[in-house]
Amino acid sequence: MLDELYQEVILDHSKSPRNFGVLDRYTCTAEGNNPMCGDQLTVYVDIKDDIVSDVSYRARGCAISIASASMMSSIIKGKTIGEVNILFDKFHKLCMGEEVEDDDDIERLRALSGVSKFPTRVKCATMSWHAVREAVDNTQ
Ligand code: ZN
Repeated sequence: MLDELYQEVILDHSKSPRNFGVLDRYTCTAEGNNPMCGDQLTVYVDIKDDIVSDVSYRARGCAISIASASMMSSIIKGKTIGEVNILFDKFHKLCMGEEVEDDDDIERLRALSGVSKFPTRVKCATMSWHAVREAVDNTQ
């Protein structure tokens, strides 16, 4: 079952979140808040020459919000700011249940697409992405 596979991915990321913590040095930071669910997060991004050279976050909240932050952090590392913005738009569409063309990143993020059936959980999945985009925008 595809759904079960997706659940496994979400559980794995929420139980052992990648890149959790505060970076020693970072160029920008932003906060995310989802009061409906009680999710909170702060992202730390280190931009060098227009590229996300490192990213981390501190977060507490539901499994979906933690898993999303974990996946976001592993996917955007090494990308340009432009690529992060494009991916944000694609991921947002995915969470709204819209058709998105598959690539390696979207394939991984598809594990979170189940939230499109639960409007109240969309914010859980997109919070970390909103925060990281805000952080990155602040550097420009
Ligand atoms: Zn949540």
